[in-house]
Amino acid sequence: DLSQKVRLRGSSELVELGDSFNSMTHTLRRDRELRQNMVADVAHELRTPLSVLRANIEAMQDGVLETSPANLESLHQETLNLGRLVEDLRTITLAESGQLKINRQVTDVSALAARVVEAMKTQFDAKGIELALDVPKSVRADIDPDRIEQVLRNLFANALHYSSSGSKVTVRLEQKDDGVLVSVIDTGIGISAEDLPHIFDRFYRVDRSRARATGGSGLGLAIVKQLVEAHGGRVRVESEPGKGSKFSFSLP
Ligand code: ADP
Repeated sequence: DLSQKVRLRGSSELVELGDSFNSMTHTLRRDRELRQNMVADVAHELRTPLSVLRANIEAMQDGVLETSPANLESLHQETLNLGRLVEDLRTITLAESGQLKINRQVTDVSALAARVVEAMKTQFDAKGIELALDVPKSVRADIDPDRIEQVLRNLFANALHYSSSGSKVTVRLEQKDDGVLVSVIDTGIGISAEDLPHIFDRFYRVDRSRARATGGSGLGLAIVKQLVEAHGGRVRVESEPGKGSKFSFSLP
């Protein structure tokens, strides 16, 4: 685009060249701002778990907090949460800079969904939530099975966290003309129209205190979006507070 503009013939081209430099500067400045925001967000996210760890360890050193197995286990859990946060950050950074590798192979998406459901079944059972599969026998797509497994895990984890005992989560797979449509439908707390446009933003949470209690990083849906779009697909959400949510994504 720029190389064309450099072949100047008249003053109108000169104006155009100026415009294109301006827009490049604008883009660069926006990139820098985004990167600075990211660093600020990350620093903010790391601060809380780190201060929890520090305060607890200091309390143990001072003899105020018992070094019981239960207390050590909660510190251990906090380090696991930190580890997951760092892993999620790595994924999102690679994806946002277009460096995430998608290793496509023809995959039976029905079997993949069934496997992830099976792997997460005990967590759903423990909370008294039914996890149902509504999938045709075999639906194939050219995808990176590891990445799509992560997408499903993130969506299932959310459906689980934001639903209460006795409710139901359904995973639906549909073969469309232009690919596969996957939906994760819950009957949980739902999301308000006000929050809905933001939930795929990194670190966005409707209720920060609740999200911390569930150990979520606030990156789950941002990762879902990036991974689906890296496959050339789109994510969609429909939700109503008190009724539930439906997250769908297409895989061309
Ligand atoms: P988190 O780690 O906080 O779950 P996500 O990026 O996965 O982060 O989700 C962002 C926010 O969107 C959540 O904090 C929650 O408020 C909302 N959300 C996501 N999935 C659901 C769902 N199935 N039902 C209700 N709210 C949801």
